Amino acid sequence: MNSLPVVAIVGRPNVGKSTFINRLVGSREAIVHDMPGVTRDRLYLRADWNGRDFVVVDTGGIVPGTDEELLQSVEKQAMLAVEEADVIVFVVDGEVGVTPVDEDIANLLRTSKKPLILAVNKLDNVSEDPKANEFYELGLGEPRPMSSMHGLGIGDMLDEIVNAFPPESEEPPPEELRIALIGKPNAGKSSLTNALLGHERMIVSPVAGTTRDAIDTRLEIDGKHYTLVDTAGIRKKAKVDYGVEAFSVVRALKAIERADVIVMMIDGAEGVSEQDQRIAGIAEDSGKGLVIAVNKWDLVPKDTHTMPAYRKKLEEELRHVKWAHVIFISALTGQRVPQVLEAAEAAAAENTRRITTGVINEVMAEATAMNPPPASHGRRLRIYYVTQVASAPPTFINYCNEPKLVTEHYKRYLENKIREAFGFAGTPIRLIFRPRREKQG
Ligand code: GDP
Ligand code: GDP
Repeated sequence: MNSLPVVAIVGRPNVGKSTFINRLVGSREAIVHDMPGVTRDRLYLRADWNGRDFVVVDTGGIVPGTDEELLQSVEKQAMLAVEEADVIVFVVDGEVGVTPVDEDIANLLRTSKKPLILAVNKLDNVSEDPKANEFYELGLGEPRPMSSMHGLGIGDMLDEIVNAFPPESEEPPPEELRIALIGKPNAGKSSLTNALLGHERMIVSPVAGTTRDAIDTRLEIDGKHYTLVDTAGIRKKAKVDYGVEAFSVVRALKAIERADVIVMMIDGAEGVSEQDQRIAGIAEDSGKGLVIAVNKWDLVPKDTHTMPAYRKKLEEELRHVKWAHVIFISALTGQRVPQVLEAAEAAAAENTRRITTGVINEVMAEATAMNPPPASHGRRLRIYYVTQVASAPPTFINYCNEPKLVTEHYKRYLENKIREAFGFAGTPIRLIFRPRREKQG
């Protein structure tokens, strides 16, 4: 999946950034409006113009108390913009003219090599356009007049923005692991996301989702690429506001659909709930690799037996996914957080593994010799031939005399034998039984 170009909107408070952003994104998503004294977090909003999709980052900012605070917040904004954006739009107030804070922002932005558009807002009448020229003194190139309020100059601005995007790449994007982070509310999904994002060597950028609102987060660690699917919502759920219900099953399903591997978080202090069992069922049905991250491990009183005992209990309570890779973490302290990505990678690798026909048949022949297949009414199950027909999840077709004779118990036995031989830790596997006459086998 290609990265969408990112446009950052920068500028001091009250120049009309929100009004401008509303113009860019239309009615797609309501912007959390400034309230005095309330910190706005960054928002990521989808927009498009002439067939190019892009993401608008509203870097927000603190409603300043003192000049010092204003400067700090503006600096922070500008740095974030420079870091994340493909194109920066610096909004200034044409009514007020150049202010010292505008100059400070200009100084910060000038060091960046990113394309920059200087938007002079609040020029509500075309006759006022020459006022924009005053902003040449910022040394950022041609100032462009607009009125966000009246929708003047917005089309031209969008043309400028889209023209400044990097060309749509022909190259395939770097191979990445797509991770769906799921779990009930308060399990610690946002905390884990933030802990992962806190890692110094990460580059963060939202990328295109297939659904309109889903915005993914991309990480790069030690040259490896990861995408946390649909994380904008969990990163800052209160602000993006997907409703009071922070976890919705539909949302999890969609995220899983688009992911290679699932990380399911459990509140370790609370233990497994019914909702966790439901989520585990969804994970198993998806056929994707699964890592269970038992979070808040810092809150669990421990001795040397705690972890094995917890593992055993999990296996019982989440019987359908006892093949899952289980790790014990604390998103809060960072304990074993890097293992989440390692385990996800391992589970994804197992999920896509292929076993050659010769080798799987050897294992199955031995398994059926050690523990003969079930019989019913004088007919005994015979398995002639096994072959892996798919991966993700690994799927094996067992050609046999009568599929009806297969019992759940025996199927589980065979699955265990396959796992003993090949591992497949962290992935479901599927065994399918098909009839075939002996001669053909
Ligand atoms: P932000 O703090 O930079 O996000 O600014 P807002 O978008 O909240 O706008 C600050 C004020 O300027 C609001 O009262 C807007 O209605 C007003 N405003 C925004 N754009 C324009 C414009 O193009 N013309 C005029 N006259 N006022 C505007
Ligand atoms: P989400 O709803 O799944 O995104 O959960 P949050 O990340 O918002 O976490 C819910 C609450 O649990 C917050 O108060 C977190 O500070 C807290 N929390 C998250 N992870 C840990 C952890 O590892 N240890 C402890 N003690 N608290 C945690």
